[in-house]
Parts: sequence; structure tokens; C-alpha cells
Amino acid sequence: MQKTSQGKRLYLSSPTMHGDEQRFIQEAFDTNWVAPLGRNVDEFERELAAFLGVRASVALVSGTAAIHLAVKLAGVGPGDVVLCSDMTFAATVNPVTYEGGTQVFIDVERDSWNMDPAALETALKRYDGSAPSRPKAKAVLLAHLYGSPARMDDILALCERHGVPLIEDAAESLSATYRGRQTGSFGKYGIVSFNGNKIITTSGGGMLLSDDADGIAKARFWATQARDPAPWYQHSEIGYNYRMSNIVAGIGRGQLLWLMQHRALKKAIYERYREGLQGLPLSMNPYLPESEPNFWLSCVTLDPGCGVAPADVLRTLDARNMEGRPLWKPMHLQPVYAGREFVSINGGDAGGDLFARGLCLPSDIKMTAQEQSQVIAAVRSCFEKA
Ligand SMILES: *Cc1c(COP(=O)(O)O)cnc(C)c1O
Repeated sequence: MQKTSQGKRLYLSSPTMHGDEQRFIQEAFDTNWVAPLGRNVDEFERELAAFLGVRASVALVSGTAAIHLAVKLAGVGPGDVVLCSDMTFAATVNPVTYEGGTQVFIDVERDSWNMDPAALETALKRYDGSAPSRPKAKAVLLAHLYGSPARMDDILALCERHGVPLIEDAAESLSATYRGRQTGSFGKYGIVSFNGNKIITTSGGGMLLSDDADGIAKARFWATQARDPAPWYQHSEIGYNYRMSNIVAGIGRGQLLWLMQHRALKKAIYERYREGLQGLPLSMNPYLPESEPNFWLSCVTLDPGCGVAPADVLRTLDARNMEGRPLWKPMHLQPVYAGREFVSINGGDAGGDLFARGLCLPSDIKMTAQEQSQVIAAVRSCFEKA
């Protein structure tokens, strides 16, 4: 809800348009490619694949659709186990259920807020196919949270050693790198999202990317109603209407021109918070030294026993017309996934602990440094009262 009493609301992350988007849309109108598919779709797919450094890509209606098709490509079916990031948005893991598979949730490590390689190793050893109750894991499904890359050296080595394919959810981390390589390009399949609050947006959309060109061709087939190559409408498989439209892809081409600038602005926001919140009993969302996040959202966790709870800070922010948000509630704590297995180190629950102490701060790139100082002052005021 837009509040007007105290002026402009400071958002978590809202769309930032530049005008280039309209140029590509206009071109689609001028050529009457107001259609699903067309030049913008082809070019957007090509441009993003080149940016990530992968061979093939298919533009889709959402990141969730991209994850769904990746899960299908990995061959997940009824009874199959997929080892999933626990602390993430539900959209990462729901597609496993679409295909009848079962999620096993892997705890986070505190250094990156991403899948803990040690917990993943435990799960890979448990689901190694050695007994009917221990089917071999069909895939690892990993998200890079808030734009900070996961510990890819260890994760990739584990997936390789156990012969389990990796699906990489880079919905929040587009343009973030690990040892110089783009997130979304490490896994057998990578996905990105262009939802309204992501670092670049098409209002809604997503893409599936892979070096496996045959797999992407198969995904494209499923995404366009699985039409057999016959003179009539013939179907041998169940399909979906998952393709991105040519108008939407035009927005994406325009936004892609600004991706690196968006990232630089996001980083400046993170650095200003780190500077401005110094001395308070809290920590910023961490990242691994060998990685360069895209700093999609700046987050904090409040120190145990500091006397201030995330809800206190969120209330203070809201009263000043600033949008904050709790951290993602871990999947093993979600009612819909009650009873699913949760694998952690020594029976811990790092994700649950972060969730209890954490929150996301306004990270909108249209926020001025002066506006951000007001957010910093609002956070500081919570501790003065405490
Ligand atoms: C936004 C998001 C998605 C879903 O993308 P949509 O394009 O909204 O379907 C998936 N995973 C994560 C981690 C996300 O943040």
C-alpha cells in the first residue's frame, strides 16, 4: 500500500526503468510482432546466454517455470529425492512437488547463508542408492540467497563425486560471480528470474540456461504445449504454455543494458549500510571472499541478546514509510513441508536461527544516499530505545 503522509515510500526493491525498454517494445509494435515469440525473444535469449557464458537458453513466463522445466529435465518423478536449499523462497523447491518428487532440505552455512556443503555431503551419503529407503538423490537444487554466491568449489566437487546433477537457482543473483564465473552457469541447468523485484525485471519472466543444447530444445518443446512435428496438432507428451512473449522480452533487452549499473548501485547501498550501521550489535548478510555478490538485498541479523527483535525494526521502518521484510522463512519450518527431512550439522538449525534474528532493509536503487541515511537513523533509533 502506498503511504503518502510522510512522502515517498522507500522500497525493498522496485522496478527501475530507463526508456530503452520502450524502444524494444516499440520495435515489436512497429513490426507487429505483438506475439508470443519473435526477434526480442530470440535476441534476449542469445544476449543472456552470452552474458552467463552458456550455450543455450529458453525464455519463459517465470523463474518458477524455469525451475519446473529444469526439474523435469533432471528426470525427477514420483518417489525421487531432490536435495534442496532450505533457506530460500518456496518457488525454488515447489516444482519438485509438481513432478511428484520429495524435497530433502539442507541447512545453510553461516558464512554465505547458502547451502552448507558439509550438510550436503551428509545427505548425498544418505541418499546414495544403497537401499530402497535410500534412493540415489536425483538432483541438488541450490539457490544463491540475496545475491551472494554459494560455496561452489565444494558443492560442485560433491555433486561430481556422487554423480548427481546440480540445478542452480540464480533468481536473486543474476550478475553475481564466484571466482569470476557467473552464477547460473555452474549447474547442469541454471535459472534466472525477471520478477518485478529482481535486479532487472520484465514485470514477470524467467530463463532456463544450460550448455546442454538438447535439454534446452526439449524444454522449449514442453514450454510450447509439447507439439509433435506433425501437420496437425498432435501430442505425445504433456506440455505447458510457459514461453515469454515478444513484448516482455523487449523489456528484458532494455533492462539487460543496465544490469551492471544496477549491480554497482546495489553494492553502494550495501557498503553504505555497512558503514552507517557500524557499532550496532548486528551483522550484514555475509559473502565469501572468492565471490562478488550482486548485492540484490542488504540484510542484517541482530546479535543474540541485543534486546531488539526483527519485528521491532520492521515496525519502526514501516512507521517511517520504509519497506523491510523478514528473511526467507526456511522450508523445513513451512507448514506445507511439515514432515520433510531436514539435514544439518550436529542437529543444528542455522537457517532457523538466522530467520529468528534477521531482516531485509530497503535496497531500492532509486533510493538516494540521503534517504538511506534516514533508514540508517531509523535502525539506530531501535537500539537507543532498547
Ligand atoms: C523470485 C524467486 C524465484 C521465482 O521467480 P519467479 O520469476 O517469481 O517465478 C525463485 N527462486 C528464488 C530464490 C527467488 O527469489
